[in-house]
Amino acid sequence: MKLMKLYKIKKSKIDKKGRGLYASKNIIAGTKVIDYVGKIVTNKQIEDSDKFDNSKPIYLFTLNKRFTLDGDFHWNTAGLINHSCKNNCEYEGKGLKIWVTAVKNIKKGEELTCDYGFGYDKDYKQFPCKCGSKNCCGYIVRAESRWRINRKFAIGKKRRS
Ligand SMILES: [Zn+2]
Repeated sequence: MKLMKLYKIKKSKIDKKGRGLYASKNIIAGTKVIDYVGKIVTNKQIEDSDKFDNSKPIYLFTLNKRFTLDGDFHWNTAGLINHSCKNNCEYEGKGLKIWVTAVKNIKKGEELTCDYGFGYDKDYKQFPCKCGSKNCCGYIVRAESRWRINRKFAIGKKRRS
C-alpha cells in the first residue's frame, strides 16, 4: 500500500500570491511531514556567488561549517511552506538532511507553517509577515528575536500586573 501524503498543495491563505501546503489529514505532533530537499552547496560558494544575495535566504539552511542546503528548486515541495508567528511545524535536521516535523497536532485542512528563523537585522523590514495570527509581530523574524520589534514578544518574562 502506498502511504498517503500528509500534505497537499493549495493556494496559500498567508502568502496571497503564492501556494502553501495543507494537512491532507490529521497530523499528530512529532510526525515527520515532508523532506526538505535541495542541492548541497559549500558555504564558500554562497559567499562567492550573487545568486545567494539577500533575496533568497528563505531557502538556505546552514548544515555545518562547510555545507549549506539550497532548497530553491521547484521540486522542493517543502519550500512552499509559509512562515507563521504561530507555526505548527518546524525544520529538523541531521547530517546533510533537513525535514519538516509537526510540533502541534494539526487538523486536516490547516495550512502547514514553520518559523523561518530569520534573525533580527537591519533588513528585517524586507520580510513582512502576513500570517494573521494573534501574535503576529508583523515581520518574519524568529521567535527569540521578536522582542526586538516589540517588547510584548519577550519570551520567558512574565509581565507584572
Ligand atoms: Zn506573523
